[in-house]
Amino acid sequence: MSLKLSKNQTLVLNHLEKQKQPLTAYTILDNLRENGIKAPLQVYRALDYLVKLNKVHKIDSMNAFIACNDHECENPEFIAFTICDGCENVSEVKDKSISSSLSKIKKKSGFTTRKTSLEFHGLCKNCISL
Ligand SMILES: [Zn+2]
Ligand SMILES: [Zn+2]
Repeated sequence: MSLKLSKNQTLVLNHLEKQKQPLTAYTILDNLRENGIKAPLQVYRALDYLVKLNKVHKIDSMNAFIACNDHECENPEFIAFTICDGCENVSEVKDKSISSSLSKIKKKSGFTTRKTSLEFHGLCKNCISL
């Protein structure tokens, strides 16, 4: 799938792809000021679009954004992350068994979900051994 991104969308996506950690919209704005992004709205609009494309995911509990680490996010209505409360390291979890359990739950309850996002908070391997 080839998509045409605007200049701002490309700037925001490239910037997020270089980061290992999620960034808030304001940090992105600060970092991209030199590149001509001056208004928060420009960042929000770009993020909105990138989130819709699943190129960027929103970490709700941190109110921050991270680039998808998978070029084709397999199951866009389901995303999961582990979030280290020590070093703020975030990684995307890919686990088919989680998504199949979720679809069983949905079937059973007859509930239709638009989007599911799981956020596991805790400590990563590095922080536990400190
Ligand atoms: Zn993803
Ligand atoms: Zn950690």
